[in-house]
Amino acid sequence: MSMVNVATMLSRTARLHPDRPALRYGERRMTYAELDGAVARFASGLRTTGLEPGDRVAVFAKNCPECVIAMYGAFAAGMTIVPVNAKLAAPELAVILEDSGARALVHDHASAALVDAAGTPGLDLVLETGAAFDAFLAGGDAGQAPAEVTDDAVAWLFYTSGTTGRPKGAELTHRNLTAMTWLELADVCDFHADDVVLHVAPLSHGGGLYLLGAIARGAENLIYDRSSFDAVDVMRLIEREAVTVIAFLAPTMIVMLLDADDEAGADTSSLRRAVYGGAPIHLEHARRMVQRFGPAFVQIYGQGESPMTITYLDTAAPGTDEPDLLIAAGVAHAGVEVAVLDADDRPLPVGAEGEVCVRGDTVMRGYRNNPEATAAALRGGWLHTGDIGRFDDRGRLFLLDRSKDTIISGGTNIYPREVEEVLVQHDAVDEVVVFGEPDELWGESVVAAVVSPAGDRPSEDELIALCRSRLASFKKPKRIVFVDALPKNAYGKILRREVRDQLTGGEGAGT
Ligand code: AMP
Repeated sequence: MSMVNVATMLSRTARLHPDRPALRYGERRMTYAELDGAVARFASGLRTTGLEPGDRVAVFAKNCPECVIAMYGAFAAGMTIVPVNAKLAAPELAVILEDSGARALVHDHASAALVDAAGTPGLDLVLETGAAFDAFLAGGDAGQAPAEVTDDAVAWLFYTSGTTGRPKGAELTHRNLTAMTWLELADVCDFHADDVVLHVAPLSHGGGLYLLGAIARGAENLIYDRSSFDAVDVMRLIEREAVTVIAFLAPTMIVMLLDADDEAGADTSSLRRAVYGGAPIHLEHARRMVQRFGPAFVQIYGQGESPMTITYLDTAAPGTDEPDLLIAAGVAHAGVEVAVLDADDRPLPVGAEGEVCVRGDTVMRGYRNNPEATAAALRGGWLHTGDIGRFDDRGRLFLLDRSKDTIISGGTNIYPREVEEVLVQHDAVDEVVVFGEPDELWGESVVAAVVSPAGDRPSEDELIALCRSRLASFKKPKRIVFVDALPKNAYGKILRREVRDQLTGGEGAGT
């Protein structure tokens, strides 16, 4: 069966709003007609180079207009885009190039040395952004319509950010991305043509997926052009450019924006929506966020395997004014089914904790070249997320932790997140991660690694007493380790298991 190519969401907008601004990146600007033309040229250039529908096109670059052109160009050619986080090291890039079997690679100047180091044996085309990319476009044909695609054609090969092990490529079809876009537009953000949408997160991940809805509606996309996230600058940019939507913020970015607020002194009242998620946000931070920005924020819970759409929490929706609700991951999107299942894949009653599972049109086709992992993840027709959660009686999902991170002490489950929520309330705790270490008596005991501001370190006893006052005694950390920084992956997610292995001198229980 044939399926709608997601690139048609751009060509449709280009016909409707040819002269409206599509992309802005520093001084560079592109209208929708220009973007659509560049996309068609890129697609035709790929075909002229000898690539065929179904081939993979990798992008290894910091956010830039070429990332968007390559993404839609691959879609339009019926090929598959393979976005690679620009922070990855050469061996990590090499693994993705090999696993994906990419035939083309677009990279920026900054990553040229890494591309050389990774080696490019299978590539027919290696294109650097800037002059070489422009010359490639100039040789292309702007007049071609997006290719026909079949129902199972893969549009995006999404490499999971992988907090451990070899990354797996989730195959996302045009159908998956179409369904995702509908759900985003319906439930998360109803982009419109006069929106100014700021993109600060890497386009290689959830941030890039948010382009689809914004482009479908003809919004102007402002691609943040600094090499790293500067919170004071972002706050001022919101005021200066009258930004109406921030497409995607990781919880850490929200904390940075809140901390930068006084120094920036910016009026951010133009902001009508900001989408955040991708990792848990601490209740304390979510409360500050709503106090500062008002209920303009919507949280999303998703994963590469069901891109950005499992549940959502609209902090502006009626009934979400219960202060503790800010910790929930929200309700299932209309059109996907979310269940909490036991170890034998049987549905659990309201309130019971189990694995969060999803089914619907957003769920990936499978992992590339990995039938065992696909069969395990999709068994019984449900995507098994590996996240532990529970529903309340109104269908709101509360996430506890990744199943592998659960600490079992004296036979009782302790979710690191609940202990972290308490510790982060202390003024002198900037960041914290909680994990279990082997304990002869209890099986495992609770340890917290804490980052504190220089010269303002609380005592271990003080932090343990804080936990004791808010939590059952068996959940309190047995010891606190102060560290200068916590290791994070390329998307800023804390590598809990790496911290644990470093601080306990090896692999603890539960791996
Ligand atoms: P990735 O596939 O790299 O996007 O990682 C997805 C994982 O990030 C999920 O399985 C969750 O463990 C976590 N995650 C994503 N969104 C949220 C959220 N809103 N709250 C808590 N954890 C989240």
